[in-house]
Amino acid sequence: MEGGLPGIKIAIANQKGGVGKTTTAINLSAALAQKGKKVLLVDLDPQANSTISFLDLQEFDLSIYDMLIESDVHFDDVVKKTKIENLDLLPSRLNLAKLEGKLIGELDAPFRLKDKIDPVCVHYDVTIIDTPPTLGLITVNALVSATHLIIPIQSSYFALEGTDDLLETIERIKARPNPQLEVLGVVVTLHDRRTTLSRDIHDQICQVFGDKVFETTISKSVRLEESPAYRESIFTFAPASSGAIEYANLCDEVIRRAY
Ligand code: ATP
Ligand code: MG
Repeated sequence: MEGGLPGIKIAIANQKGGVGKTTTAINLSAALAQKGKKVLLVDLDPQANSTISFLDLQEFDLSIYDMLIESDVHFDDVVKKTKIENLDLLPSRLNLAKLEGKLIGELDAPFRLKDKIDPVCVHYDVTIIDTPPTLGLITVNALVSATHLIIPIQSSYFALEGTDDLLETIERIKARPNPQLEVLGVVVTLHDRRTTLSRDIHDQICQVFGDKVFETTISKSVRLEESPAYRESIFTFAPASSGAIEYANLCDEVIRRAY
């Protein structure tokens, strides 16, 4: 890839629910694809929200669960094209919730995703991995496989609650299975510039994460909430909206930091 190494893998993680992981995963993937990067979006959440943002559940048979569990199910059997040029998707289903139970006692359990996607990720400029709101085996698979991590933090009271646990998990993964893992940045989401509370929380997040905090913050926007229901990214659904402008800016920052 122009000006950088191919095959970077960015996990989007925060074990807090509803902080904008999926919204960031789908719109950052779409923004990168629009810029001509070849992008793979890996849906590693049993809730399958990223998948449903692009595909009907009837449109695919095998999911990432089959790929992670069955030795004879491979990437090519599962990957789907989306209607966005340059954007492919590894779809998820609710059955992914069974992964942890299925892999009890398997020594390679944390490496399942890495082993399956490393050989193919080199064919993509960027892989984006959406994760569930837990720090369990599924998220560990994402962090073991990723080269970079983006942490979305919701601009709300208790925004930083739980980040210690996340940072500790990151340190443990860096210490052993994945020393390469780097926090690419923290993105403040669901921000409401008008309130003093939001501005105070933004300051607090900057005090903790310093220059890791992206300059771009993602504002609260009804358009961002609506677009997945129409199987659209924010860029086709509401190209002039604040969400489209902000996710395009975030994409530029991601490219600048990663390459
Ligand atoms: P989960 O932990 O359940 O996977 P998540 O961290 O992936 O959640 P999202 O699904 O992206 O979070 O967002 C949670 C809800 O908030 C969704 O309904 C989404 O549409 C909405 N949302 C996300 N970002 C914004 C935003 N900037 N403005 C308005 N609504 C948003
Ligand atoms: Mg999600």
